[in-house]
Amino acid sequence: MSLPDALLAALRDFAARIDALDPAAPLVGDLEVRLGGQQVRLTLRAPVARALVEALRAYHDPRDQGRCDHCGGRRLDDNFLCRDCGRPNGLFGQLLAERAARYTESEAIEAPPGGRHARDTA
Ligand SMILES: [Zn+2]
Repeated sequence: MSLPDALLAALRDFAARIDALDPAAPLVGDLEVRLGGQQVRLTLRAPVARALVEALRAYHDPRDQGRCDHCGGRRLDDNFLCRDCGRPNGLFGQLLAERAARYTESEAIEAPPGGRHARDTA
């Protein structure tokens, strides 16, 4: 099923599913959606309209990590680094950035010269 077909079918099914629970509820109006050469016209009753609002507002995109504390951007990556200003976001982002910094630091440290068995007093 193409994306436009899937979207129109999902809208139709959603409205039918909610509408069946209270088919005598007051009408809100008609919702028309034209997409990919097709058109769907839904007669919306109040419960369907409310359910649509709720469903849309409740959706959380798994890529959405919230807003950047510094620039307000919405594009935080999986490490809570902002793709807009490049700064780590929030406490968790700070911790990840510090851990990453420590990791590269300790790799740069060389072994101490001479070792540690200095018992030259004997
Ligand atoms: Zn930012």
